[in-house]
Amino acid sequence: MLFIIHYHEIGLKGKNRPLFERRLAANIRATVPKTRATRIAFKRIIMDVDDATSRENAITALQYVFGIEYFAPAHACAADMAAIIPASIAALPNNFSGTFRISARRADKRFPHSSQEMNALIGAAIQERYPQAVVDLDNPERTVFIEILPDEVLVYAEKIRGAGGLPALTSGTVVSLLSSGIDSPVSSWQLAKRGAQLVLVHFHSYPQTSRLSIENVKAITQALLPYCLSLKLYLVPLLPLQKEALLKTNRSLMLILYRRSMLRIAERIAAREYAAALATGESLGQVASQTLENLSVIGQSVTIPLLRPNIGMDKEEIIVRAQKIGTFELSIKPYEDCCSLFVPRHPETKAKLSAVLAEEAKLDLASLEEDAYANAEVLSYTYQPNVE
Ligand code: ATP
Ligand code: MG
Repeated sequence: MLFIIHYHEIGLKGKNRPLFERRLAANIRATVPKTRATRIAFKRIIMDVDDATSRENAITALQYVFGIEYFAPAHACAADMAAIIPASIAALPNNFSGTFRISARRADKRFPHSSQEMNALIGAAIQERYPQAVVDLDNPERTVFIEILPDEVLVYAEKIRGAGGLPALTSGTVVSLLSSGIDSPVSSWQLAKRGAQLVLVHFHSYPQTSRLSIENVKAITQALLPYCLSLKLYLVPLLPLQKEALLKTNRSLMLILYRRSMLRIAERIAAREYAAALATGESLGQVASQTLENLSVIGQSVTIPLLRPNIGMDKEEIIVRAQKIGTFELSIKPYEDCCSLFVPRHPETKAKLSAVLAEEAKLDLASLEEDAYANAEVLSYTYQPNVE
């Protein structure tokens, strides 16, 4: 079984294009079970799948691969009209009676017929075979695509939309703060879609809370894995720091103190992982703690760039995305969030940096954060497609 795969943006990457193409081809092989070969020809990738993989499984797998604009199950034939015509007829359903058009493209201009001639010849042959079929150039039910490449001709009549974005693992490393809520799996996914390699960091309050948030976050990591292919997950114990904060600081600022410590610990992880940025799932004004004032005070805890991919998204949009990528059901499972621990009902909504710094000065944060970092558990994940 053959698939032809078209990419869009990586076509624009100039000198880096071969690198992106090779990465995309490797990502496809890593995602689709039993890929026999992928080759690159004229800004397309051609993938050969073992017949043991069903067409449906190959289609489902390809929809996870970032960097694909669209793809199509295709048939290969010889560069000869005597082969192209029957292949074009075979690409349509049996006894086809709808509207259609032919779209022939010559990547190899040595082919003796022009695209126009091919369209006319093949269209006529299809109408001879299926007299009910009607040519419609503007709005056909089916388009039969014929691509003449140097060594082969590919024929297909069904284009399937891909995931878009840039190939996974091509844009550098980002440390993404992953709670087991709805938002941060979506912000993480959005970065992966732009090619970022993700190092996920989850803060937990075990054993004050159960291990549920940890188990949820592991399941969310598994759900993101087919898109990301390779992930690391840091599980960082925040409880000792939280206990100190509870004893010594003003509770109305506690959430902000937690967040700032989380970012500073994440910044240490970023240095170890050679990551160029941090990311969170915050969205402007979504909850009382995410006012512009608070986001600003939280963000000022680190010097490394802090990305907030969800910043302009509505909750509704985030939920729809979470449902599509398969994390929503995991995020709504019950869990105790480390951040709700010890935090008052009405936290500060307009934090002032000076007040926050005064609270932080009451704690030995350097050593509390160092301990949390040093005691982190690190898990590594590599995607293995299910071979049926
Ligand atoms: P989410 O749905 O992602 O939990 P939220 O709407 O609940 O987000 P907050 O609880 O204010 O918002 O958290 C803001 C961001 O801080 C999260 O999106 C996440 O990036 C980070 N964060 C919060 N709690 C944790 C945690 N326990 N571990 C790692 N990151 C966290
Ligand atoms: Mg949350």
